[in-house]
Amino acid sequence: MLRGGRVIDPGNELDGVLDLRIVDGVIDALERPGVMPKAAGVAEVDVGGCWVVPGLIDVHVHLRDPGFPQKETIVSGLRAAAAGGFTAVAAMANTSPVNDSPEVTRYMLAQARNARAATLIPVSAVSVGLEGTTPVDYQSMVRAGARLFSDDGMPIDDQSLMARALDEITGLGFTISLHEEDRALSGQGAANAGEISKRLGVAGVPIKAESKRVRRDLALAIGAGKPLHLAHVSAAESISLVRAARSRGAQITCEVTPHHFTLDESAVLQCGPDAKMNPPLRSKQDVAVLQEAMTDGTIDMIATDHAPHDPVSKEMKSLAQCFGVNPERHLGEDEARAMTRAANGIVGLETAVGLALELVHRAVIGPARMIEMMALNPARLLRLDARSLSIGRAADITVIDPERRWRVDPGRFVSLSHNTPFAGRELKGKAIMTIVAGEIVYDAGNERVQ
Ligand SMILES: [Zn+2]
Repeated sequence: MLRGGRVIDPGNELDGVLDLRIVDGVIDALERPGVMPKAAGVAEVDVGGCWVVPGLIDVHVHLRDPGFPQKETIVSGLRAAAAGGFTAVAAMANTSPVNDSPEVTRYMLAQARNARAATLIPVSAVSVGLEGTTPVDYQSMVRAGARLFSDDGMPIDDQSLMARALDEITGLGFTISLHEEDRALSGQGAANAGEISKRLGVAGVPIKAESKRVRRDLALAIGAGKPLHLAHVSAAESISLVRAARSRGAQITCEVTPHHFTLDESAVLQCGPDAKMNPPLRSKQDVAVLQEAMTDGTIDMIATDHAPHDPVSKEMKSLAQCFGVNPERHLGEDEARAMTRAANGIVGLETAVGLALELVHRAVIGPARMIEMMALNPARLLRLDARSLSIGRAADITVIDPERRWRVDPGRFVSLSHNTPFAGRELKGKAIMTIVAGEIVYDAGNERVQ
């Protein structure tokens, strides 16, 4: 029994203080406070002052398993997800081996059963080995449990493969999530093309590397009359293209990451490889447009692109002295090369709620919009049952304390990796309990939060 929380479920037009009772994994009753008596055998949790919301879902994470257990495993990743308030996460296919066969999907699902944490949603590759040439057997992947298709990490260059995959995958009732990048334009880029990449002496990734491909695929979606999803949009130009394509009837959804709506490219000077990702952090104006697009509904969802890396992959040794202390410093040739080699991406599962709440506290978005972007719309993309706090539905629930202040300390992450540009940042708001099918898989309880 969750007592006295603010129950927010925009899918049900629900926003008010209610008691919520869970019996046998299912929401059994929702009543005004005090109406329901205590019952023997039902645990009582006082969640006064907290939000009780449909379980959060992240449509874009990298769990590195199989292949890179020093970075993350399915078990550690799903526990990190639960600690961040997520009840389900979609794990991308760029593992080793790639998730392009039912055997790998079944391995992932078997590992997930040991985690007692967030639910794993396997993402199937679009092309065998992410090589962009041979289509995967999509039907067998759906049968094995895949609910989203993506070559994420790699773009799909071949337009005929793209058209065929779009046809077959939408025919099965599922969606392709696209990592939009023209590699002829992004090249060896290690930061947004502009002032910062120049100052560091590294190659830049121009906005066009993303928008050119977005333009191609939006045209394809309009022509085919089929849905497509754009992963991690980073730039104002992509947002304009999405708006224009929607006005022409395109069934487009898109996601933004917490780092792209929070940080601009100058973070690279402070955090170096811990602020290096693909697509890169963009300009202040891009960040402003992304936030505006979250407010007005152009952006459908928040996804973390959780990308754990160990310090070796991030070239931390070669670059330890280069950033933070003296952000004006130019990189030497060897250091610029190390920055170029450093792996892309940051961990995001355990900071996403706090960063989204920054926008709520600044009134950029309201609580209902945050829940749409972190629970309802992700469920739709993955073709999961609509997330809903109503009687008879599975109890997948996140409890968020929107006022709880804490400081990001990567050393305390549940994730095996610590690569984040948000270390030391004070956040206001945190998931304090995560419930999957009625089972509490994360409880911040009385843990001391710094
Ligand atoms: Zn990507």
